[in-house]
Amino acid sequence: MGSRVPTPQKDILDCVQLVEAGNLDLENYRRSIGDRARALLTSGMNKVLGLLDTREKIVHITAHTPPTRRNFVFFHEIGHRIIPWHHMDYDYFEDDKNILRRDIKGQFEAEANYTSSRLIFQGQRFQKEARDYELSIKTALFFSERYDSSYHSTLRYYAETHNGPCTLLVLLDSGDINPNDGSKIYKLWYSVASEKFIKKYDTNFLERFGNDFEFIRGLKKDGVFRGEINLRMLDGTDARGQIESWTNQYEVFVLICEAAPKLIKPKTVKVFSDTAP
Ligand SMILES: [Zn+2]
Repeated sequence: MGSRVPTPQKDILDCVQLVEAGNLDLENYRRSIGDRARALLTSGMNKVLGLLDTREKIVHITAHTPPTRRNFVFFHEIGHRIIPWHHMDYDYFEDDKNILRRDIKGQFEAEANYTSSRLIFQGQRFQKEARDYELSIKTALFFSERYDSSYHSTLRYYAETHNGPCTLLVLLDSGDINPNDGSKIYKLWYSVASEKFIKKYDTNFLERFGNDFEFIRGLKKDGVFRGEINLRMLDGTDARGQIESWTNQYEVFVLICEAAPKLIKPKTVKVFSDTAP
């Protein structure tokens, strides 16, 4: 694939001997396939984002898949095709199910997600590039454009693979409201951390976050909040850390890292106008 970013889909399809069909009409497709696959598909048809049909050698991305997700879903399906122990006739990618399942199928899904990230971010290339930039949510958002990946998957890969100590918390609206001021309460969906963070810091985070936290109060429509935090080291002592929060209106992303003095000023990227409130 040479030095091209984003990863060219067409070249990868040629490599793995698949074709991509255009926008898929799920109902027509469901009628055309075998009983077993049909039963699988009927469960949550409107949630299906992508499909792999290894008999017909076709990758489908469904018409309602948001543009920002298409690339990740595409390479997820490619992942099933190239991992030798994934002997599947069909795969269908459903948003939430494919991300956090823990059964055997869940293991395959995690592997396909991992492969998708590796193909999109071209392994070490992303890490090497990210190293030159400030450790910040803004950097990850900049890279999501560059590598044609969703904000969510880029932030996750960024935190997991960063060579500095950092961790990403992904929060969802819990549906509960703070009775005092009517503000939203968020629940922790999952967290990921870099290798250096895990070796040094406590990763037992709270499960719920409301307006009593500055990084929740500071959430704004078009900008990244930045504040300070106390990190707890594994030996029980405290360390100074930096916390950032940002929301894409579906999830809240919280990036926590060590507040270390930088000897070389890292590159910064500008993704929002400074006139934001
Ligand atoms: Zn899958």
